[in-house]
Amino acid sequence: MEVMADVYDTRDILKPLVFRLHENAPAIVREVLLERGWTEFDQKEQDDTDWNLYWRNSPFRMTDHHSIKPWQRLNHYPEAVRITRKDYLARHLKRMKGAYGSALYEFSPVAFIMPNDYVKFIAEYSKERQSVGRRPSYWICKPVDLSRGRGILIFQDIKDLVYDCTVIVQKYISNPLLISGYKLDLRLYVCVTSFCPLTIYIYEEGLVRFATEKFDLGSLDNVYAHLTNTSINKYGASYKKYKEGIGCGCKWTFSKFRSYLRIFGVDDLLLWQKINNIVILTLLAVTPLPVASNCFELFGFDILIDDEFKPWLLEVNYNPALCLDCSIDDTVKRRLLHDIVELLNYKEIDTLRQNEMTGSKAVRRRVPWRTAGLSTPEEDPGLLTCWKVATSSSASPVQPALQAARESIHKVASLTKKTVRARPRKTLTSQLREKMNRPKTSSQAKTEDKNKLPAVHYPCSSAQLSHWLPTPDFHNCKISTHPYFLSDKDQRPIRRVGDFVLIFPFNEAALQASRDGTDVKSIIKEINKLVSKQLLSKQQNTKKGVGYLTSV
Ligand code: ADP
Repeated sequence: MEVMADVYDTRDILKPLVFRLHENAPAIVREVLLERGWTEFDQKEQDDTDWNLYWRNSPFRMTDHHSIKPWQRLNHYPEAVRITRKDYLARHLKRMKGAYGSALYEFSPVAFIMPNDYVKFIAEYSKERQSVGRRPSYWICKPVDLSRGRGILIFQDIKDLVYDCTVIVQKYISNPLLISGYKLDLRLYVCVTSFCPLTIYIYEEGLVRFATEKFDLGSLDNVYAHLTNTSINKYGASYKKYKEGIGCGCKWTFSKFRSYLRIFGVDDLLLWQKINNIVILTLLAVTPLPVASNCFELFGFDILIDDEFKPWLLEVNYNPALCLDCSIDDTVKRRLLHDIVELLNYKEIDTLRQNEMTGSKAVRRRVPWRTAGLSTPEEDPGLLTCWKVATSSSASPVQPALQAARESIHKVASLTKKTVRARPRKTLTSQLREKMNRPKTSSQAKTEDKNKLPAVHYPCSSAQLSHWLPTPDFHNCKISTHPYFLSDKDQRPIRRVGDFVLIFPFNEAALQASRDGTDVKSIIKEINKLVSKQLLSKQQNTKKGVGYLTSV
């Protein structure tokens, strides 16, 4: 019997993390989690408390939020739609502009919500038309709750404006940055791991999306020249053709775009700082959302850059597309998902579940980053530590447990699911669980045979990519721990996880101002200081002769 009890314990240790997907959830989410050794939730066999991550394309019911367990995560906040619906976003940004001035909040093109703002729009339109010597603006009309470029119309003359649902009419940026004559925009991934306190990570890799026909204001109805949505351009006649300057297809990675900008002497750091500011200011506009714990949100920010390198926010997407239309999608989105799972820090979350099962109280102790996590931060590893929950004081429970697990892994596979436990279960980090459950590739199998240790395959290191340079203010921010433990007085979110970089809080004052209810006014004050510093450093760079071109 004693032997059996040992075996049950090992089986429990090896129990993989469990994901639950709603019917339309992207296939890549399943693929990545299976790659990591997770298993899919089985509603018939498993209990509602048995999953660790629930991914849906639509909002969760409030009952899902209320019944959440400490080891579970949902991929949406309640009411995230406050910034992802075009009219709500326009309204929030307008309010912030009124409250905090247009110097900060002038990154979103002027917009009117129709039919409500019809009179205001007409007034603006007529004013422009009557002013002598001013070229009339172009406008873009977009249904408020459609996506993928559906129902969009670009016009200059009001007689061409027609709509049959609520739309926003927005100033059309008619001087976009062009590469070889093609329009482009940036799809930026942003992960909010907490709205209270506000904790924002920006993904350094992303997608540059090109229109597939040359930009031409003389043909406003040519969607392949004016819209950069892949969902549209992949049906264009030029999509598969080689296009001089941009290649086949319609996408680049940010890495390629950065290299391109650097070749032309463009200050890509300044551009990136401006984009970071836009993300923070936009999310501040909807903060705080109703309190909900154990959620995260992956937003897709669409940023258009004009020919003076000013970034404009076009919209914020709920459920940014995770379909794989080309190999660039595969590279970027697969890594993105791996990094999201790392960001969620399941090694901590899962320990909560284990402790609840064993009834043991967590003893927190600091361990060096490299012992606790598998990611390798690039900056100042001395500052980067994370919390590890341990039930004993031994230096590393991982190696002995791994050894024991390895030895008995094939014995436990044949055991039935529900067996009475003879002893409290041992604690093992989820990363070990992921390692043990991750399917082997043939090269991994060979290594494993050789070393008699399970091989671990992680997506390639972030250090292999060319990065945006770090935002200077982060150097002064002694960020050291994980967002989920921010409630402890002296703990701060970690600065980098994979390609995710913390952009808020960006200094001590911003951290304090976002702790007990968000003090937007104080945060805006800090952002103003940050922007002044950025401008100053731009001026100094200009004096030193660092190039900043106005066209490419
Ligand atoms: P959707 O949700 O339908 O994708 P977007 O607001 O993202 O709507 O617009 C779709 C595309 O139209 C963008 O990717 C961009 O290429 C273009 N676009 C949208 N708004 C503007 C604008 N104000 N100025 C210039 N181009 C725009």
